[in-house]
Amino acid sequence: FEAMPRLGDIPAYHAKHRPHAIATRFEGRDTDWSTLDRRSDQVARALRAVGCRVGDRIAYLGKGSDEFFELLFGAGRAGVVMVPIQWRLATAEICTILANAQVSLLFAGPDQIGRAAECGNDLIRETIAMESGAEGFRSFAAWRDAAPVDPIPDDVDADDVALQLYTSGTTGEPKGVMLSHRNLLRGRTDSMAQAMPWNEWLEGDVNLVALPLGHIGGVGWAIVGYFNGATSIVHREFVPAAVLEAIAQGGVTKMFVVPTALQMLLMLPGVREADFSRLRYILYGASPIALDLLREATEVFGCGFAQQYGMTETCGTIVYLPPEDHDPAGNERMRSAGLPMPGVEIRVVHPTERTPLAVREVGEVETRSVANMVGYWNLPETTADTVDGQGWLRTGDAGYLDEHGYLYICDRFKDMICSGAENIYPAEVESAIFGHPIVQEVAVIGVPHDKWGEEVKAVVVLKPGAEPDDASILAYARERIGGFKVPKSVDFVVALPRTPSGKVMRRALRDPYWAGRERGVN
Ligand code: ATP
Ligand code: MG
Repeated sequence: FEAMPRLGDIPAYHAKHRPHAIATRFEGRDTDWSTLDRRSDQVARALRAVGCRVGDRIAYLGKGSDEFFELLFGAGRAGVVMVPIQWRLATAEICTILANAQVSLLFAGPDQIGRAAECGNDLIRETIAMESGAEGFRSFAAWRDAAPVDPIPDDVDADDVALQLYTSGTTGEPKGVMLSHRNLLRGRTDSMAQAMPWNEWLEGDVNLVALPLGHIGGVGWAIVGYFNGATSIVHREFVPAAVLEAIAQGGVTKMFVVPTALQMLLMLPGVREADFSRLRYILYGASPIALDLLREATEVFGCGFAQQYGMTETCGTIVYLPPEDHDPAGNERMRSAGLPMPGVEIRVVHPTERTPLAVREVGEVETRSVANMVGYWNLPETTADTVDGQGWLRTGDAGYLDEHGYLYICDRFKDMICSGAENIYPAEVESAIFGHPIVQEVAVIGVPHDKWGEEVKAVVVLKPGAEPDDASILAYARERIGGFKVPKSVDFVVALPRTPSGKVMRRALRDPYWAGRERGVN
């Protein structure tokens, strides 16, 4: 790319350089770059034909599909803001997001068309059905192919908003994050392409796109692969066995996964015998990972691992832990989120005074880079509270830097437990308990305590067939972490409440204990 690229330039660039290479592989159907380029252009013209202008918004409600990427790049070319909606959300949540985003067109996947109809509002001029279509709706292909032939002006600026993505809603209502072409392609994607071996994309690289496209870990990661000319294998949804097959037989060379997805893959029968020889790198992140899980994964997959730390507000990854710091013996570095990406500034400040802290002092992580969002949609006050006049963005995460500039994330401030004079970060306690043989999943929360303010509680999902044994779990924790961090009690549950992107919603576990009480600090 010579000039500052925009989303819509991606297919055009690769169509010129590798027209017949495969851009997207979806359920046995291949789309080469020249086809993707032509269709994106049709989409752009079709959008302009119905009156969509730069800055107008459209939404996609659906699972992974090849057509999603035609729509994404086409919208980019027309300067229309794409709002991909997480299909795993409840219908009421989807209705809220659709109304909030003020979209004029809605594109719905085959299994989402009913919900799309339920969530209609006055601003939505038409709902278009993806893939094979649906009765009473125009199909995407028909709509796209009816586009006028006249070219549209090239009037999209790199600083125009390209994507509006809703945060995961782990700590509260999802917020609409506005990301520009420059944020996405200069901030995240381009710096990713710099001289880090795990970041380098080779001719013939095959990228797995299996996480929900309504989440930065899905669509943001996919954009990185498309930008770099890889073939994207797109899965409708994350099905562990299908993912294993795509790696072992489909030739996947790179993928991004969240820790729970990694755990699901490791639980598959046959995972230890599968052929991972073509897999070069697994990038993982989006929530804290238990050290035992990471160790097992590095051993089983045998490829390079790179942790990613970031947030929707930063187009995803801003800090990475390179493969060479993944020492299976589990040195201290393996607990780190890693080093800032090129061009990214990271600092740790006092959570209330906002003054920079010394090395190894825990405070709030702040970041500044070209990847920082344009702002939250329709939330000017929240935006002003989150990004200061110098461009520093508050992450809400507690962490510290070491002498070598490695960032360690303790946990979110909102989940920090204040017990007496001690601050306890649930992620550390969870990591200490995770390896216990009867524990399948664990979440740690603060529950009210009359004297100490809060006390530590573990909520555990047992492995199939295991019997609850809180004494043994607590003894296990006591061997691994300081006594004040060890939970005072254990609850056993059948499943943990998770956001659609796989994050544990500790607030949902905590709320019943705090009914009618104020949770002091946070
Ligand atoms: P909401 O902002 O709506 O509460 P969310 O913060 O979960 O939801 P995302 O933008 O998807 O929404 O997630 C960003 C957050 O995920 C970070 O602020 C951090 O808490 C967590 N996170 C991301 N990567 C890592 C990582 N490598 N290790 C630990 N935590 C991580
Ligand atoms: Mg957040």
